[in-house]
Amino acid sequence: MTQVKKLWPLLTGTYRYDKSISTFNRGRGQQIEAPILAYLLETTNGRILYDVGCDHGKISDPVARDRYYNPAVFKFGAPEMRDEQRIPHHLARLGLTAADVDVVFIGHLHFDHAGGLKELRRCGCGAEIHVQHEEMDVARSGADKAIFSDDLVDDAGAPLQFRLQRGEYTLLPGVQAIATPGHTVGHMSMLIELPQGPPVLLAGDAADLQENLDDEVAPGTLWQGREQQAIDSIRKLKALARETGAHIWPNHDMAFYRTLPTFPLACE
Ligand SMILES: [Zn+2]
Repeated sequence: MTQVKKLWPLLTGTYRYDKSISTFNRGRGQQIEAPILAYLLETTNGRILYDVGCDHGKISDPVARDRYYNPAVFKFGAPEMRDEQRIPHHLARLGLTAADVDVVFIGHLHFDHAGGLKELRRCGCGAEIHVQHEEMDVARSGADKAIFSDDLVDDAGAPLQFRLQRGEYTLLPGVQAIATPGHTVGHMSMLIELPQGPPVLLAGDAADLQENLDDEVAPGTLWQGREQQAIDSIRKLKALARETGAHIWPNHDMAFYRTLPTFPLACE
């Protein structure tokens, strides 16, 4: 019996970029606008966030923005993130604060997924932060330029405390971590059983777009060029969806996002 009561997609920002970033060797020269999403789950046993979006400070502060997102040093450029898109503001609209989040599950450590950790900490979030140990090894090595090491420390520069995980596991009844490497070394998706209706399978960046799923195209950004591993992860998600009846939610697909309930409406 699932412990999940509700699921909210949270729009934390938007990003205009070349489509080839989402679809390997496809769409070069075509600009797309992508949502940057986080997901909040309410369960009978606490609240879980899947991903936390970008660090607003690195986008809103001109000095930090130039340091992190100047296109001369960072090819993707800066996302758009409005003040009201910060996760603490979403929580406030539900009558909650950062202290009401019990587990933060980070699918992978890229800046548009883990950047919000710093602000949550600042706002009193004491949640366990789950991430795969291999993700953290890569972050520490500095080998992945889409991970900002400053996102993984608090305002005083002390490392955030992560609960490092190895492989797939059940967070609680109805919430399962599913390994989908390829985009990053330890990328994780999440299978969520809702009280009613089909389960939801959050692809994370294993599938940015519906097209990645339909055509079995790898994401454009791959850890060490692991295209086949990324395709295998897409096939794994599709097989799991067939087996469980789950709907797969691509992570950066604006057209798909617009079909979801608009916050503060939830899936329940
Ligand atoms: Zn992403």
